[in-house]
Amino acid sequence: MASCVTRDVSEEELEDIRLKAIDWALANGISMRPSTLSEDQDKVVHAPFTLFPTTISESNLQLATQSMVHFNRLMHHVAMDHQLLQESFKHIIDVDEFTERLWNIYMAVWNDERVQPVWFGLFRNDFLLDEDPDTSKLQLKQVEMNTIAAGFGGVGSKLADFYRYILDLIGVEYTYNQIPDSQSVYGFASGFVNAWGMYGNPKAVILFIVKHNERNIMDQRLLEYEIYKQNKNIKIIRKTFEELVKDGKLTEDRKYFIGKEEVGVVYYRVGYAPTDYTDKIWTIRIELEKAWCIKCPPIQYQLVGAKKIQQVLTKPGILDKYISDISIKQLIQSTFVGQYSLDMGEEGDKALNMAVSNPDQFVLKPQREGGGNNLYGEEMKEFLLSIATCSERSAYILMDRIYSKPQLNSIVKTGVPFTKLNCVSELGIFGCFIGAKDKELYNISCGHMWRTKLADTDEGGVSAGFGGLDFPFFNIP
Ligand code: ADP
Ligand code: MG
Repeated sequence: MASCVTRDVSEEELEDIRLKAIDWALANGISMRPSTLSEDQDKVVHAPFTLFPTTISESNLQLATQSMVHFNRLMHHVAMDHQLLQESFKHIIDVDEFTERLWNIYMAVWNDERVQPVWFGLFRNDFLLDEDPDTSKLQLKQVEMNTIAAGFGGVGSKLADFYRYILDLIGVEYTYNQIPDSQSVYGFASGFVNAWGMYGNPKAVILFIVKHNERNIMDQRLLEYEIYKQNKNIKIIRKTFEELVKDGKLTEDRKYFIGKEEVGVVYYRVGYAPTDYTDKIWTIRIELEKAWCIKCPPIQYQLVGAKKIQQVLTKPGILDKYISDISIKQLIQSTFVGQYSLDMGEEGDKALNMAVSNPDQFVLKPQREGGGNNLYGEEMKEFLLSIATCSERSAYILMDRIYSKPQLNSIVKTGVPFTKLNCVSELGIFGCFIGAKDKELYNISCGHMWRTKLADTDEGGVSAGFGGLDFPFFNIP
């Protein structure tokens, strides 16, 4: 079972370790803007973190890491499969306006030869560890694949040294490799440098589209600095969608400009939630999709990150379309738990009844990102009953609930009392993919993160405020 690595220390020692850890975090960019941010741009707090790293078996981390290039490739193939996308989204777009608007953008560009044929994805594949009831072994189970605005590639790269420092403070003996380094910021930045090179204009800039008052700005800044470190000729511009409404321009020959600067690569750290858009911003989004600049992600990659696609991929035989190697197929499949469509009809009725009878065994997911959108338990049951006879239910999918065994840890968070609590951890594996229609141009697995949330909260997003950053520790038997 996973457990946090610690030693018996007195309350006083613990407080000293906590304060030193906070200083280390602040001194090294494991930080965010405070949640009460006004227009001040000069205040930071440390990102929430667990005081102790949590164990994971080396084989599980290796398996997850090795599988990432296959997941990357799979996402790309699915994104190119117009028929599958059409079949998967056809009922959702009638009942979910946000997905419909994304879909309309896709339909406007998918067959347009003047659209940039190089696609760029920075992904994070999230897993929980499920205990096999027969062997008690922990098995990786996929929670979701993030294909837009996947966070913590920047800050995540700092955490190995952070937890080595904490273990030194606690006085736990370990070897360097028991805390496995994560090179996510290096990997993500290498994706940008490559994509920018493929655009082919050395004067073009990379555009980060960001939220106004973004809390997780340091994560993005660390990526920006790493890109600059890898290639000093690349200029990065940060703009909100609102600023693009004023300053962005699509030319007749499909180049995208901000003022006089031509944009070579666009990186969305916003744009996955309905509240990110106004009609004018939807116009910006479609202009960018039509533009010749390389998108991270292009609309197709955003669509394949939908919960619906993950449910479809668990259907028998679907993976055969994209993967011929049996061992790779088995590897991917071994991480799947049951997922069910709620489309109107016999199959959907069966799934709905199953969840209503056993609400604690399932999670209900809409086509949304960013945490806080899923329903669980009695709340899920009531909601399902309220939509049982409406076509609106097609907008959701059901997923078997994964119960990870809780372990005690302490989350250090500004403004929250520091006590030992039952926690569960979620692994994230970072990947970077650049592809043309029938060609793979760049495909790497590039590091990991480990987030821990309180066991009695259902959701685990660090930015969304439900958990803390953690880091894997290999227990050497
Ligand atoms: P989002 O796009 O909002 O991040 P996720 O699918 O990642 O959606 O779900 C959010 C959180 O809910 C996850 O981080 C995890 O803590 C929890 N969760 C999601 N699916 C499951 C599941 N099948 N079993 C248990 N917990 C889950
Ligand atoms: Mg998630």
